[in-house]
Amino acid sequence: MTASSAYLPPGLPTPAADLDDLGFWEHCNRRELRIQRCSACGHFRHTPMPTCPACRSMDFTWAEVPGTGTVFSHTIAHHATHPALRGFGPYNIVVVLLDGADDVRMVGNVVDVAADEVHIGMKVVLHWEATAEGGYLPRWRRA
Ligand SMILES: [Zn+2]
Repeated sequence: MTASSAYLPPGLPTPAADLDDLGFWEHCNRRELRIQRCSACGHFRHTPMPTCPACRSMDFTWAEVPGTGTVFSHTIAHHATHPALRGFGPYNIVVVLLDGADDVRMVGNVVDVAADEVHIGMKVVLHWEATAEGGYLPRWRRA
């Protein structure tokens, strides 16, 4: 896992943590990909939430996952969805099925590939992207 310059241009808002996902972002800022795992039944869940959807328990841990996965779905963005993206693109947006975390899927981008090279079933590996605020965002690279 490496960190490098931004996949998307500067000026985009960074994710704002709320009480549910604060732990997720704190781990990201230490370059640890950790997913909520229910302490009662072992079910992984993402995005972070207070209650297990499988058993309703509110007890959980932040389980570290391997940082590999498979592109489950993807699209190519051609139009700016934020003023900072004007004139940029096309770029890919992917949904990655994480290894080692049941059926957890995470939205992200695959860096260092042309947008039309991304495909369903593509194996990817975690790539940490440094933010201007000193944190890290999870992105993906072709495995
Ligand atoms: Zn549970």
